[in-house]
Parts: sequence; C-alpha cells; structure tokens
Amino acid sequence: MSYLMDMDIPELERLLKNMDEPSFRAKQVYSWLQRGATIDEMSDIPKNLRAELNKLPLGSVKIFKEFKSSKTDAVKYLFLLEDGEFVEGVLMRYRHGYTMCLSTQIGCRMGCAFCASTLNGLVRNLRPGELLGQIAAAERNNRVSENQRVLSNIVLMGSGEPLDNYENIIAFLKRVTSPDGLGISPRNISLSTCGLVPKIYRLMEESLPVTLCISLHAHNDALRSQLVPVNRQYPIPMVLNAVKAYIKKTGRRAIIEYALIDKLNDGPADAASLAKLLKGINCHINLIPLNNVPERNLKGSSRKRAMEFASWLAAEKTSATVRRSLGTDIEGACGQLRQRHLDENGG
Ligand code: SF4
Repeated sequence: MSYLMDMDIPELERLLKNMDEPSFRAKQVYSWLQRGATIDEMSDIPKNLRAELNKLPLGSVKIFKEFKSSKTDAVKYLFLLEDGEFVEGVLMRYRHGYTMCLSTQIGCRMGCAFCASTLNGLVRNLRPGELLGQIAAAERNNRVSENQRVLSNIVLMGSGEPLDNYENIIAFLKRVTSPDGLGISPRNISLSTCGLVPKIYRLMEESLPVTLCISLHAHNDALRSQLVPVNRQYPIPMVLNAVKAYIKKTGRRAIIEYALIDKLNDGPADAASLAKLLKGINCHINLIPLNNVPERNLKGSSRKRAMEFASWLAAEKTSATVRRSLGTDIEGACGQLRQRHLDENGG
C-alpha cells in the first residue's frame, strides 16, 4: 500500500498527474504533509482534490500521550500509528533549539541486555513517512505559529536499530535534509547503531555524512557480547575498523556511547582499557549512567561514579562527557514507555 506521508515530491507529482492536477500541487501537498496537517486543513488545495486525497491512506502519526519531565526540558511522546501500533519519541529543548530523538522500528531484534525495546522482538520497520510524522506531530504540538519550524537537530536513538531498517532510514535522511523538506544539515543528525558493520560501510557511501554513534558499552568482546549480542557477529575490532573508515570518508568525528553499569564496566581499569582501545580514533565518548534494569540485575552507576570515570579518561587524554540518563521520571530509556502501555493494555 502507498501512503501519502511516504511520498516524495516526484511521487506526489505522478499521483496528481494521474488525477489531472497540475504539478505545482505536489509541492503544496508535500509542504502541508511535512507540517503534520490533515487533508482537510490544506487550505490552498481545491475542495474536490481534498476529497480525492481523503480517499487515500495517509500514514499519519498522532500523539497518543505526552509526558513532560519535571526535571529536564524533555517531552516524551507515545505516538499512535495508523495500524494501531505505538512508538516513542522525545523532544528535548536546548539553548540552540529543539532536538528530536526518533524511534526507527517498532520493537527491535538486536536483543541488547539493558533495553526494553527488544523484549518482544521486532514488530515491524517504520516507514520514512512515519519518521517524518513523528517530527511533524511533535513540532505541531510545540510551535507558536503555523509556519514555524522548531527543530534544529535529530537523533536516531529511540527504539529500534536504524541500520536494520536501512532503506527506509536512507529515504528518510534524504527527505529530511532536502531543501524541500526540513532542510536539516546531515551535520545536525546523529545515527546510533549497535554496530552492524556492513551497513556502516554502506552508509559512508551515501553522501549523507551524519554523525555516527556506536553503542559500545564495553571495552572487551566477552562483556560486549553479553550486553550487545550482535557483537558475536561483529566483534569490537571489526566495529572500530568500520568507524575509522567512516571517519576517514566523511570527516566527521564519531561518538562512542558507553552506558555505565555499576561494578560491571565502571572501574578505573575499565576506563584505562577503554582509553587504550580508542586511542588514535577521532571520537568523543558519551558516558550515560544506565537506567536500572532489575529484570537483568543491571544497576546504573551513580552520577559521582560517572564523573570519576570521566576524570580517569581525561587522565588518559581521552575526551568524554557525562550525559544525563534521559528523564527517568518520563520512562526515558528507549522502549520503556511503549512497553508499559502494552503491559497496561494487555498488548
Ligand atoms: S539498544 Fe538499540 S539496538 Fe539494542 S535492543 Fe535496544 S533498540 Fe535495539
């Protein structure tokens, strides 16, 4: 099935040509769709055309629930998709503007030990229009005037493994960076992967130099394979070789994500090994104290421990920043909110 939200301008032109409409209507319709408008709200589209468009599947994304953090400037959304599925997104306000963290799949099949998104495996991939729809719905909910764009940065770090949904993610990136779309620079987009090595090599050939973030979380293969099972297929040396190639090709500094887990990977020897592993790679480490996962007996490191870990890395001349673990009061970790909704509603 073809959804209007998934169509780019040439596809809309073809659709409208078949309806005997002039090609300029395609840009008008596209622009409304990107702003999260319903067909009936497309005020410069003739009524009879709106009636025809209303007969087609839209593929819209609606805000089902919103949770405002009392501690941070973050709003977490539970989005409802047209087939009744739910996904999560988070809008964060910073000094320079808004950053949106998007889900890329419903569920996930990567099986990371600390992650709620993967508990029931992969349900389905999200389509480009459903990623754009998350942005449109959140922007619409936050802007003060009809044409205001509020978003400056995008991070693909919500539920799902973006590189496991490769074609749809590339289509999304092309549209969101296009001047006909949001026109967001690839430099302001970050893509986080657990390390699907062949797809990293493919991504670097796409002329879409987004910032590559690697969910590393361990400095040796034994521990990483426990935490991130895909490591058995693509162990750390393979992942880091791909990261080096990506950096060389795109000129972009990479981000290494390291979730700090109490007594598992947060000691001084762990910091020294991590620094040694990443030596000579143009990267920055984001240290994120893990949200507790009682089911797996994993406890996040304290903030104090995280700061100590950063200082041990600094002593090794390795750049790192302690990031806040995203609002635990709004079920910030990826997949928690959808999972809770499914639990409460017998999903
Ligand atoms: S951390 Fe990311 S890749 Fe791993 S299971 Fe969760 S959503 Fe999937």
